[in-house]
Order: sequence, then structure tokens, then C-alpha cells
Amino acid sequence: MKRRIRTRTLAATAVLSALVAAAVGYAAIRSADVAREAAPVWTPPAETVPMGESVGVFYEIFVRSFRDSDGDGIGDLNGVTASLDYLADLGVRGIWLMPIQPAASYHGYDVTDYYGIHPDYGTMEDFRRLVAEAHRRGIRVILDLVLNHTSDRHPWFREAAEGSDNPRRDWYVWAEDQGIEPTEPGPWGQKVWHRIGGSSYLGVFWEKMPDLNPDNPEVRAEWIRIGQFWLKLGVDGFRLDAAKHIYENFRSSVGDRLTTEKNAAWWREFRRGLDEVNPNAYLVGEVWDSPAVIGPYLNGAFDSAFNFELANRLVGTARADRASTVVESLSKVLAYYSSQSGGRFVDAPFLTNHDQNRVMSELGGRVGRAKIAASLLLTMPGNPFLYYGEELGMRGTKPDERIREPMPWSEDGRSDGDTRWEPALNRTPGVSVEKQRNDPDSLLNHYRKMIALRNREPLLQNGGIARFPLAGDGVLGYVRFRGDDRLLVVHNLTGLPQRVDLWTGGRPPFRKIAFTSEKGARLSRGRELELPPYATVLMR
Ligand code: CA
Repeated sequence: MKRRIRTRTLAATAVLSALVAAAVGYAAIRSADVAREAAPVWTPPAETVPMGESVGVFYEIFVRSFRDSDGDGIGDLNGVTASLDYLADLGVRGIWLMPIQPAASYHGYDVTDYYGIHPDYGTMEDFRRLVAEAHRRGIRVILDLVLNHTSDRHPWFREAAEGSDNPRRDWYVWAEDQGIEPTEPGPWGQKVWHRIGGSSYLGVFWEKMPDLNPDNPEVRAEWIRIGQFWLKLGVDGFRLDAAKHIYENFRSSVGDRLTTEKNAAWWREFRRGLDEVNPNAYLVGEVWDSPAVIGPYLNGAFDSAFNFELANRLVGTARADRASTVVESLSKVLAYYSSQSGGRFVDAPFLTNHDQNRVMSELGGRVGRAKIAASLLLTMPGNPFLYYGEELGMRGTKPDERIREPMPWSEDGRSDGDTRWEPALNRTPGVSVEKQRNDPDSLLNHYRKMIALRNREPLLQNGGIARFPLAGDGVLGYVRFRGDDRLLVVHNLTGLPQRVDLWTGGRPPFRKIAFTSEKGARLSRGRELELPPYATVLMR
């Protein structure tokens, strides 16, 4: 009882101090003076929730924009192979190739042949060499797999569109055959029924992307055959596109539990099919939804699902230059995923992907914020995913072509390897591998440093995560832990120096600086930590 009263008093003092600090302005405050009288209460975290083992950082590649090997200006597989040393040096342990199969559109998400390589990208021989060279460097290769829909130019759809007596007809979804009125809008209110030859077919994303029929056993068998085909070629797993839209087709299916259950049941069937070829295949699903919806997919289907909610919070925290409850909400989500997956899931944090404005644009082009966003991401549990060029600070806002621009290998954009299939409208001086490679303060070298740190600190990969209370909202602290092994991560989220007091009553639990991302971080009196702008410090 006595202890509780004391706690409350301390909390009240902390709030008051924070208000005073906010009123006067942090620049003028010696925040250590404020914090000393109001040691925040901290209870060492309990044992971490069970999770699967992280395998490391993945790097998402849009092959068409990444690196050209033969001078036609279009990125290709040999270009990716030629970049493996760059990626290994960056510290990544896996690459996700956006669709590489023959497709009708530049982006590849409307496949016309699931068993081939896009002629712009090279040959099957090139692909085998890429996989072998990646594996030689300890880099996994996962492929984007787009099963929900094909291109309307896929031979299957051409056959299906011939008429209701074609054997391929039922591979797609026809309103008339299903006895459905083709009127209900899609999950985000879009038109999903499209006309061809007097009939209406389902195409959730676009009329040129007809949805396959998941209730047709031949389609399901074909989907598994496709996955097995690529596993036999040596790929290590898949990024599963539009995973919830196998059954989520209409406005009425949004948030519907039965729809989620049918989706998850299908992906479990898919996983069992893949297990016949490679029981260790890594599956990461794109379920662009809340953690509550994602959970069931982690029960025997996917190893990972992209953590969209966390991504928003990480970018939001970096953008605001202010601490947030990102860690508290993540802890809850991890506990939920752990219970759903029997302790086997691996989280998949990221900042932004090929469907979202580039993170540097979201952060107003501020390199310090981009560094902090990277530091946040790379100290989260799981397998973090980077989007190509993020490590250089590439910019770009929608439409999609503008967030998928040529990777800037050279400063002039016209040297060997630079792609030019589309103009690089967001090209920015200083944002190139050439310029940043040898600059110790560059964003590229910050990513390299943070990934190297992660690769040598098992707690950063697999430890639990819990908020560590610090006075002042310009700093964010959290503990990564396993049992009694603990690491404190402190970020200065602002462009001003910050001082924080690590005292939480009694003996300071963290007394030694283990890492600093910027020069000038200092610990004094065993508890007062001084952080340069946008610096990240690890303490033991
Ligand atoms: Ca080329």
C-alpha cells in the first residue's frame, strides 16, 4: 500500500515536470535536473512471449528499377546478382524479388505465365545463377507470388472467357454461374464485376486482373504446383500478395470472421503442399489489415505477416520527433500473435513498401529523421524489411511509378547499372550509392552500422520488448530482453541534444554504453545519458 502511494506521487511529479519542461522549451532545460527528482518507476519485464527465430534483415527489390546488366536500361536478374556484394555488405540476409514472371504490366502483378521468367529480366539460367550466388553469400531469396488473380491476358482467362462450356470456365468467378447479382462493390467500394462476352467476372483489383476461383480444386492444386515449382528451383520462400483477397472480395466480407477463417484455411493447405518440397520455406503474407485480422493467418499458415500497424507507428514517431506508445502497442500485438501461432511467428516490421509513399518523403526529406526511423526499425524484434533505395533516402510519393523509380547507383544516373526504363523524377543530389558509400555520416552507412549491430546482438533479433520510462518526450527508451539478459535502447527523436536520467530508484539497471550511432554520446555520474541529435544508444 505504502509502495503504491509513493508510486503515485512520483508519477504526479513526473507529469508536472513534463508540463514545466514543455512550457519552457526543451532546448533551454537541463532535462537531467528535471528527471533527477522524478525517477520513473520501472519494473524489469517478465519473460518474453515465445516467438520464432529471426533470420535477419530482408531487402525488397523491384527488379525493373534496380540494376541493369546489359545496357537496355531495364533492370534484370543479372543486375541483382551483380548487386549481391553490395547487399551482403549492407548486412541483409534475404531478398524479396517483386514479381519476376512474365506479366502484362510493368510492375508484374498481373502474371501471364507462372512458370517462366519475364523476358525483360533474363532467363531461367540467370535465375538459377542468382539463387546460387545469393546462397553462397548467406542470402535467402524469396519471390513475390501473386495467386489471387492473373492477367486477363493469361491463357487460362482467355479460355475461360470463351464461354460457359469451356473446361477452364470455373477457374475464374462468374456472377451468372454462381447465381450472384453482379452489383455488390468491393472491399474499398470499388467496382469488382467486369463484363466480357455477355458475362460478368470478378476482378477485385482491376478489370485486367481477374480473380481465380479458390473453390475450384484444380485451381488450388495448380497454386500448390506453382509454389513447389519455385521451391524446387531453390527459392527459400514467398511473399504472398493480397493474401486476404483470396476470399475477401466484397464490401460485406470486410471484417467478416468466416472470410478470414476461409483465407487462413486455404493458406494452411498451401503450406502443407509446400512442406512436401521444403518444410523450411519461409512464408510472409501481405494481409494489409489490423493485427486482429492478421492473427489467424499465423496459426499454421504464414511464418510472418507484414506489421502494417507498427510501420505506421514507427514512421509517425520519427515524423513527430516525439515519443509515442509504439512499444506498448507492439508488446500487446506480439503477445496476441504468439498465442495465435503457438509461439512460432516471426514479426515482419518495415517502414514503407512499394505500395506506399517512400519513407523519406513521409519524413519531409530530413536525414536525421530517416536515421531515427531506421534505428527504430532495426531494433524491433523479427525480420525487418527494407525497400530498395530506402537506405539512400530515395524519395517518392504516389502514383506508384514514382515510388518505384530507378535505384541511384551513380550520382549522374547514367553510369553502368543505372536503369532508365522510366524517368527518375525524384532523383536528389547526394542520394546515390556513389556519393554515400564512402561518407561515414551518410544514411547508407547508418543503415549498414545499424544492421551490423543487429546481426551481432541476438537480443535485438529475438528478445522481447518493453518500454523503459524516461522523462521527456523527445526520447524513447525500451528494453530488449531474454530472461535476465537485457539491453536498453534509447533514441533521441529530436534534432537537439537531449540528456536523460536513467535512474529508476535503487541501483541504475543499465550502467555501460554498448553502442552509439553518433559521436558524442556520454554517460556521466553512472546514470545521466547525453545524446546528440537523432542518436541511438544501447546500454547494458
Ligand atoms: Ca537489362
